[in-house]
Amino acid sequence: KGVQQKQGAASAAPTKALPKPKSPPPSTKSRGESVVPASEDIDEKTIKEALEDEIIEQLRGIDKAAAKQIFSEIVVRGDKVHWDDIAGLEAAKNSLKEAVVYPFLRPDLFRGLREPVRGMLLFGPPGTGKTMLARAVATESNSTFFSISASSLTSKYLGESEKLVRALFAIAKKLSPSIVFVDEIDSIMGSRNNDGENESSRRIKNEFLVQWSSLSSAAAGSKGNAAGASNEEEEDERVLILGATNLPWSIDEAARRRFVRRQYIPLPEVETRKKQLSKLLMHQTHTLTEDDFTELLELTDGYSGSDITSLAKDAAMGPLRELGDKLLSTRRDQIRAITLQDVKNSLSYIKPSVSKDGLEQYEEWAEKFGSSG
Ligand code: ADP
Repeated sequence: KGVQQKQGAASAAPTKALPKPKSPPPSTKSRGESVVPASEDIDEKTIKEALEDEIIEQLRGIDKAAAKQIFSEIVVRGDKVHWDDIAGLEAAKNSLKEAVVYPFLRPDLFRGLREPVRGMLLFGPPGTGKTMLARAVATESNSTFFSISASSLTSKYLGESEKLVRALFAIAKKLSPSIVFVDEIDSIMGSRNNDGENESSRRIKNEFLVQWSSLSSAAAGSKGNAAGASNEEEEDERVLILGATNLPWSIDEAARRRFVRRQYIPLPEVETRKKQLSKLLMHQTHTLTEDDFTELLELTDGYSGSDITSLAKDAAMGPLRELGDKLLSTRRDQIRAITLQDVKNSLSYIKPSVSKDGLEQYEEWAEKFGSSG
């Protein structure tokens, strides 16, 4: 079955009808310096647009401009993330494999009682790898992957946002199996009693919830496919909403319930920090011994994955920084190795971005609402 590359709807569509163009999509190149001849760019663009138009034509009751926007802004491409790129988080990886990846790759095994969930939430402090996990899921599950942020759905024009939400779900169904990743989901799924909630955010939220419910009822066996779909196509109508948030407690209760799985993505444990730090320094010359590492791991307690990345990047600048202008005339092999002192210097101003109090709040919420394991 067609489990070729299916990264992003725009490139997924051609896998169904046409051979997939080999070169990267035009949008990833900067203007005026395309790697492939311009004519090829145009061909590829024309094919892509023709396919998009064809898909849009088939979607009845969907605003065409909104559908175009979904295609152009929301569908993600770019560098692939694999499981091994993410240090630690084994529980989260396993949970994502079971809930998302395996069901998408082997739909025949995941039916009835084993019907996959339609919503999964990744929550935890910022910078702990939630986005990376979502991108790994996209790579590993061979699904069409939509990555949207709240801001791409909110329009200042009344009613436009709802059209976008409808278009998003329609296209996701059309190009299924699909994963709709919504980063900062709390900002469109905020709680109803939020003081700041205005009419337009309420409407987006409601439309999103309505569309989301329509997925569940399709899964429950309603045969809403007018084209008389074969079993295989019905089976394929799988859309999962994967949300990520740093503020799980501000999510509306109705939305929270729809996220059947809620996976806590905590700050990295010592082992995870070790893996990440070793990986970051792997291709650098450094003098860090096993004992130095042990010391650093103690010092980085409470640091998130992205804090560790910032720390390593900053420490790597140490040897260059002290050269000043001499940097320009120094040969590469004469740059000194990174030392423990470099990392310690960086530690003095790169501080953990999550406070102890903040952490407790996550743990309490995980205890109350998180799925264990
Ligand atoms: P979140 O979505 O949870 O805020 P991200 O997934 O965007 O965090 O992570 C931000 C950056 O931090 C990543 O690009 C990566 O450099 C680093 N990072 C975070 N967690 C990990 C991890 N577990 N393994 C490797 N890198 C990580």
